[in-house]
Amino acid sequence: MNIILLGPPGAGKGTQARRLVDTRNMIQLSTGDMLREARSSGTAMGKRVAEVMDRGDLVTDEIVIGLIEERLIAGSAKGGFIFDGFPRTLAQADALGELLDRIGQKLDAVIEMKVDDDALVERITGRYTCGDCGEGYHDTAKPTKVPGKCDACGSENLKRRADDNEESLRTRLLNYYRDTSPLIGYYYCKGLLHTVDGLGTMDAVAEAISAALDKADA
Ligand code: AMP
Repeated sequence: MNIILLGPPGAGKGTQARRLVDTRNMIQLSTGDMLREARSSGTAMGKRVAEVMDRGDLVTDEIVIGLIEERLIAGSAKGGFIFDGFPRTLAQADALGELLDRIGQKLDAVIEMKVDDDALVERITGRYTCGDCGEGYHDTAKPTKVPGKCDACGSENLKRRADDNEESLRTRLLNYYRDTSPLIGYYYCKGLLHTVDGLGTMDAVAEAISAALDKADA
């Protein structure tokens, strides 16, 4: 199945995408991760987008569509693609439909993860990840067992995102409501939308997503 995880920053898209990679052998395509990788490897494109990302604004459609196109054409689909943080505009949504057509694939479901705005601020300002294995943590909800050390791989390379601060979060939320939330109606009209409550525990949300995917696959 090819699916989109749709939701505001902090809704848990990345966390749930990682679980789907493990449980359903799917491939996660996160444009945010691709852009951060481009930044840290110092590519010309990475340098160009750094300031935009730190502000919390959207990178141009052309750049992110190009990144997705490269991966779709290069990669095998295994258990299917999970689009995480893409599309974020109607132009990106149209482009994704065309790209999937071109490689003889289709979109099977769009999972909207609903979380209220106050919870997003709390989630985002407390989160950090392991720079080596990617495991996610939170200051209060899920701290590492040993301070400063990843539970999963033992690395001490724990990182916070440069854009996980209140000011850029406000911009990211505004951009979500202005540019991305119209996709909810767009995919509803295409009969692809499934809404889950993103506020529960990670396991409860994973279960709700799994049920939605089974329903879409039936
Ligand atoms: P994320 O990791 O999905 O929260 O993305 C981090 C940042 O990368 C966003 O705030 C944007 O600046 C940029 N970004 C990621 N995905 C997209 C996209 N599909 N369209 C435009 N900008 C994006």
